[in-house]
Amino acid sequence: MDYELTPEQELLRTTVRDFCDREISPEDVREHDREHKAPRELYDKLAAQGWVGINIPEEHGGGGAGAVEVAVVLEELGRAFLDLSFWVFRTVTWGGLAISRDGTEAQRKEFLPGIASGDLTVCFSLTEPDAGSDAASISLSAVEDGADYVLNGQKVFTSGFKVSHLDIVATRTSTEGKKHHGITNFIVETDSPGLEWQPIETLGHWPLGTAMLYFTDVRVPKTRMLGTLHEGWRDLGVYLRYERLCLSAARTGAAAAALADSVAYAKERRQFGKPISEFQAVSHRLAEMQTMVEISQMLVYRYASRLDRGLASTRDAAILKLYACEAYKQVADMGLQVLGGYGYTKEFDLERHFRESRLGVIGAGTSDIQRNIIAKTMGL
Ligand SMILES: Cc1cc2nc3c(=O)[nH]c(=O)nc-3n(C[C@H](O)[C@H](O)[C@H](O)COP(=O)(O)OP(=O)(O)OC[C@H]3O[C@@H](n4cnc5c(N)ncnc54)[C@H](O)[C@@H]3O)c2cc1C
Repeated sequence: MDYELTPEQELLRTTVRDFCDREISPEDVREHDREHKAPRELYDKLAAQGWVGINIPEEHGGGGAGAVEVAVVLEELGRAFLDLSFWVFRTVTWGGLAISRDGTEAQRKEFLPGIASGDLTVCFSLTEPDAGSDAASISLSAVEDGADYVLNGQKVFTSGFKVSHLDIVATRTSTEGKKHHGITNFIVETDSPGLEWQPIETLGHWPLGTAMLYFTDVRVPKTRMLGTLHEGWRDLGVYLRYERLCLSAARTGAAAAALADSVAYAKERRQFGKPISEFQAVSHRLAEMQTMVEISQMLVYRYASRLDRGLASTRDAAILKLYACEAYKQVADMGLQVLGGYGYTKEFDLERHFRESRLGVIGAGTSDIQRNIIAKTMGL
């Protein structure tokens, strides 16, 4: 099923795109990438537009918008600056969705207005050194002690930690029964005593980076528990499906940008006396890329509209994440080929797309894990 945006949603797209054209230059993005610098000023400007808090309920200072609007904003931001879009995707997922949905009234009042205004930013820690794809086997412990829980253990790959005030941390509160039981989520302040971190050097996504976290007797008040004791896995499933929409929308925008750069280059670059776009090998490659971008867009809006209507399934989320992330990886790879040697240089953005698209098929559930989910729904 295709999905037609309403006139209001089209207007939102145009407004975000105009903002990006006005405020974000390719040179800006390259500089943030080169210097591993978080785009703080741009994030503040997005917050002032109301896009950071777009899905936070209006009574808590947000826009109260649905998943389609979130996807529109993330796709357009992803087209201009993928890491900026990822910063917003983390905010709308771990703040706008998780705290709005499962926070107590006191937590919503304490955190949501600050998240919507851009003053508070949020990251997420699930993965551990011994619990990656098998995420339900996490062991970072949270033990009740008076008015607090005391956290001990390690997390790996917490993205955006360096710019975040709050971290939604998945912990083990019980080892009895099945591994999916006994997981509890907490809202942890990133400057909590006993919480140490160090950056991890990676292939890409440098502006926000990713981190290794060490928890030593970190005290978290009971009032910071997010959702129900021991039942955090059930809530995580909801958050992770929303995350799959957000990161797919952002990467679909980035894939469209990689395609546009490749088409422009192919029309300009001349070899053997004519533009390389006139060689069928090149034009077919571009046609393939166009097809993948359009299918990704269809899947993003199909999923977002299903989510808004309460019809989205785990399988839909897996199909979306698998396709959109594999498509971005291929589009970036093929686009780099279209640019030949220049695609391999820092003069063009294809090399960044090539590096960053590699994460899509690994983070937030690898492509293999998405295929496992889909196969299971097929009775395999
Ligand atoms: C840059 C970056 C940012 C990240 N950001 C975050 C973050 O903010 N928060 C967070 O919690 N996590 C984050 N992650 C973690 C990410 O979600 C995990 O890396 C991912 O889930 C895979 O886990 P793993 O790396 O331990 O790989 P493993 O689980 O060890 O997998 C290794 C390989 O084995 C395959 N494999 C494993 N199990 C199966 C199976 N059952 N069937 C088929 N194949 C299988 C995988 O597909 C993969 O190819 C990030 C990771 C990176 C690299």
